[in-house]
Amino acid sequence: MEENAKWVEDLGDGVHKVRTCVWSPPGDHPVGCGIIVTVKDNKVINVEGDPTHPITQGRLCPRCIAMDEALYHPDRILHPMKRDRADRGKDAWEQISWDEALDLIESKVRHFWEVAGPESILTFTGTGREITMYSAAYCHAIFGSPNYCMVLSGGSCYGPRCTIANFQLGAGYPELDYAAYFPDRYEDPRWELPQYILVWGKNPVYSNPDGFFGHALIDLMKMGSKLIVVDPQLTWIAAHAEYHLQLRPGTDAALAMAMCNVIIEEDLYDHEFVEKWVYGFDEFAACVAEWSPERAAEVCWVDADVLREAARAFATHSPSSALWGLSIDTETNGVQAGHTFLAICALTGYMDVPGGITLARPSSFTGKWRYETVNSVPDEVRAKRIKDQQGRYSCWDAAGPGPLPDVTLDWLEMDEPPTDFKMSYWFGTNPLACMSVQPMRWEKALDKLEFNVVQDVFMNPSIMRLCDLVLPLSMSVEHAGIVMPHFGRNTHFLGAMNKAVEPLDSKSDVEIMLELGRRLRPELWPWETPEQFFTDQLHTAYDWGFKELQDDVVFQQPFEYRKYETGALRADGKPGFDTPTGLIELKASVYSVFGEKPLPYFKEPELSPYSDAISDEVKEEFPLVLTTGGRHISMFHSEHRQIPSMRALNPWPLITIHPETAAAHGIAEGDWVAIENPLGRCIQKACIRPVVDPRVVHAQHAWWYPEQSGEAPNLFGLYKSNINSLIPHESVGVTGYGAPYKNIICKIYKVDSLDAFEA
Ligand code: SF4
Repeated sequence: MEENAKWVEDLGDGVHKVRTCVWSPPGDHPVGCGIIVTVKDNKVINVEGDPTHPITQGRLCPRCIAMDEALYHPDRILHPMKRDRADRGKDAWEQISWDEALDLIESKVRHFWEVAGPESILTFTGTGREITMYSAAYCHAIFGSPNYCMVLSGGSCYGPRCTIANFQLGAGYPELDYAAYFPDRYEDPRWELPQYILVWGKNPVYSNPDGFFGHALIDLMKMGSKLIVVDPQLTWIAAHAEYHLQLRPGTDAALAMAMCNVIIEEDLYDHEFVEKWVYGFDEFAACVAEWSPERAAEVCWVDADVLREAARAFATHSPSSALWGLSIDTETNGVQAGHTFLAICALTGYMDVPGGITLARPSSFTGKWRYETVNSVPDEVRAKRIKDQQGRYSCWDAAGPGPLPDVTLDWLEMDEPPTDFKMSYWFGTNPLACMSVQPMRWEKALDKLEFNVVQDVFMNPSIMRLCDLVLPLSMSVEHAGIVMPHFGRNTHFLGAMNKAVEPLDSKSDVEIMLELGRRLRPELWPWETPEQFFTDQLHTAYDWGFKELQDDVVFQQPFEYRKYETGALRADGKPGFDTPTGLIELKASVYSVFGEKPLPYFKEPELSPYSDAISDEVKEEFPLVLTTGGRHISMFHSEHRQIPSMRALNPWPLITIHPETAAAHGIAEGDWVAIENPLGRCIQKACIRPVVDPRVVHAQHAWWYPEQSGEAPNLFGLYKSNINSLIPHESVGVTGYGAPYKNIICKIYKVDSLDAFEA
């Protein structure tokens, strides 16, 4: 902690307060909420919201308020640890020094480079954490490997929406205009209140994904914005909406096409905007003409009149705005759903206008480390990136920063894969308990590797089962950093992560990156300190550095509306959008290049109860629609399960069941319920509420039990409540994007207890 810094307030008696913005760990997306940390004797004694932060204005969610419980938790990993490969699954860790740990990594990497090539080293990144900005750099510029991966089927987290936006708008992630760019926020005369907000597959009051804040939605509602909520569950915001379109999970593309149908058929679209800035209108109109509200009602289970009224309300109240959520990414038709969601915003002319949805250049602020490091991998090695052997998913290969996760698993499972894989390095991922579908397959596949390294803050089932070396990470308030909402894609502000307390024996992701970089590829890693690195990064966009950001804590980016009129959205400075046609593409020219249809469609996922691909007998045995992925505010995916006050808010995994369905199955509130389909089974506790359709159940994801035995075979109860055991591998869309987390067959039945259950 820097004494006498502008962001430190000395209160005397050894107590001081530090203003900072938060990222992770523990887990969090890049939101940068402003906090004030009170410190005494290098210990955090209080965390409160920073009322001077222009965006969050003092408001926090419970995870930050409980930060001290995470910082000083007895289970926290505090030192580097190693164990023999033969001891995987056993609690046989040996504490080692940082020098020994880094020496070990360096020697292994140099050895694998020599015997199997850089491509034999895989990196696996998780979601959201600070390392997400830099993990590609680790893979490309330190290990020299092209195989930068996730284990999430279809890469179905944020990337799909960004790619869709890049292809169709030529602009980075679009965001609801909540005046976040302006220091005086809602008072700024340039801003207008959205009349309607279309909230699609997102619950921002419960989760703060990437750069939008639930409290901003509440602000707008208080000021008079009305909501149209598309969600299979009756959430809090759906209950406060003017229209709740409670669709069958995974049918979003059909619903969106029907909304476009109404907007076009009833001549509610913005003719001037469409004529000037939209490509492919006629073909798109012909496509959605096939999707009457009545047809969509059959597929989506949404009343045709309600659908019609919602589309009319949105199109006839200008300006209105929209939010799209993770459910777009996590359904097989995700590209088509996202395509059509953007079409709704384009047809109504709400693009980049006050109170509409804001756009940014595809890489408005990404620093040079996010995308450019792939060029540091020599061409002949880059050619060895994992690719589908049947030539599928060329879109993913062109747009994604690394191999498609599903194809990566296919390669790892081969007896003699084209690459002799040796090592993996994990960043903020708990793959078996959280991201992977069919996790038992991933467990076997990753166990083949000779050396698995992880950097994290707590032990988890994946580390216990598979890793050989663990590097302990410092938490957000223990190191310096930069937080940029939306990972720099549509960044309304930059926040300084100011160090409040000195860590003990842990380091930040960036500190480890710089040390490994200097050891393995010193020509690419000239920086001695994170501060030098951050300053260089900032200089790619600004004429000031990290010290200035630390002093101000928050920097709001300059912003202008209607950038398509000024040329600010295009690399060549010409008006329009950065797409092949220079226009918003309702008929997406890029998709045809990759074998995908240029116009949207809806196709039932293969393992849906309404699919033609499965027999009537199977449908009869597994009649319910399983959907997963709804969040709880106390947890970040598989994290926070060991934090007492957070666990108290959500003590057990919950399956939400309609009362009629529960009664028909003899299930009472709080019963343990098995959820099963032909791929696998797990158990969760019954939460009986009339908030889902009687034909649908929603199961929480990423559950494990830190209080249980960690050693194999139990592995903290890894497979007892793991809903991803029921989700199929490689059921992604044609492009490689999208995955079937939303619409899968299942059956449910009551079971006796958690302890007695075997997955
Ligand atoms: S979203 Fe919650 S946990 Fe994340 S930084 Fe904001 S207050 Fe903290």
